[in-house]
Amino acid sequence: MTETTQTDKKFIYLDNNATTAIAPEVLEAMRPYFETEYWNPSSMYAPAEALARKLDEARATVARRLGAAYPDEIIFTSCASESNNAAIVGAWKAARRVDPKRNRVITTKVEHPAVLEVCRQLEREGAEVEYIGVDAQGRIDLREYVRALRPGETAVVSIMHANNETGVIFPIEKLARLAKQTDEKIVFHCDATQSVTKLPINLSRTATSDEPVGAFANVDMLSFSGHKIHAPKGIGALYVRRGTPVERFLIGGHQERGRRAGTENVPYIIGLAKALDLEAEDREATAARMERMRDRLQAEIEARIPWVVVNGKDAPRTPNTLNVAVYGAEGEAILMLMSEAGVCVSSGSACTSGSLEPSHVLSAMKVPEGALQGNFRFSLSRYTTDAEVDAALEAFVDVVAKVRATSSKWNNVKGEPIA
Ligand code: PLP
Repeated sequence: MTETTQTDKKFIYLDNNATTAIAPEVLEAMRPYFETEYWNPSSMYAPAEALARKLDEARATVARRLGAAYPDEIIFTSCASESNNAAIVGAWKAARRVDPKRNRVITTKVEHPAVLEVCRQLEREGAEVEYIGVDAQGRIDLREYVRALRPGETAVVSIMHANNETGVIFPIEKLARLAKQTDEKIVFHCDATQSVTKLPINLSRTATSDEPVGAFANVDMLSFSGHKIHAPKGIGALYVRRGTPVERFLIGGHQERGRRAGTENVPYIIGLAKALDLEAEDREATAARMERMRDRLQAEIEARIPWVVVNGKDAPRTPNTLNVAVYGAEGEAILMLMSEAGVCVSSGSACTSGSLEPSHVLSAMKVPEGALQGNFRFSLSRYTTDAEVDAALEAFVDVVAKVRATSSKWNNVKGEPIA
């Protein structure tokens, strides 16, 4: 169960793409490092040296779980946003220093702001950035991508593995291979925040087909975050393949081989490694369970609520994510009533000054105006139960009917949206 409490009210938590509950095993694994093993791993006495070895072990675990060849390719950070910033800015600067003509950055229109805003900042600093579009299912426009990869000019490509709003998966194996075939000096970065533990990822494996099977040998850098995988908030990691030119990003001490200074967050690093171990034990079974529940929720919503569209339905998606657009209903009202009904879901639309701004992801997918505001994301976790999915479904059916009954966007006589 992932029920959560606020004062005396119980909530069903189906917003796991926003953050996840810490796994009890992770909490337990971290506990000694708060209570007794609190040394600074750089210190020169026996307990601190023992702790430094634990840190090495955790780094080796993270590397192994991602299929990285060497533990020193893992840099611990504070979150995926930091990893994305460090990767994109660091690789762009390093490339430009060697060859000022290498000034292009390629990304997509549907990235998380932790990539998009970094790219916009680089544009202000003189970079030429191209934002690749997607089709109505959220699939990347391959032709546009290949055209954008100009040899000798592109410094970095940064493309997410799975979309946080829709769950749509990009074929990273193919995109990275195409980049390297065009120009082996292009640095390929992948934001895998929503896919680590949900999809296979192996940084040493070479793709034998275009199927997204996690063969990430052409990926140079990869970001992810602890709090999406049942580890705490405040810990993330950046994988940097040996030999990848990237500037150091936090200057000071020698930690993380001089690339990211600051005393290591030992308890959280231990927690991150434990979370990856836990998921590895039963990743396929967990993914299959989440997918079965997600598909059931999707089928029931489609069957019981008229005028809904599942965004990204025909594209490959992460097993835990469902994004539905509801026509003829105000998104804010639905979210508010869902919260009152005790169900935590979210909308891809950002709430600014009391009204919902359309999601940039769904706008890029050209989701029609009538459904842009009423989109909802259900995201499941390893702890989600069938009973929770049932309760959330009943609440959603009920809330949509209630909101439509008084909505100025819905024709109650005809049972259809008002154009
Ligand atoms: N990238 C993606 C795809 C995300 O979904 C998120 C968080 O939602 C982030 C980056 C940022 O993660 P963090 O909160 O760890 O900085």
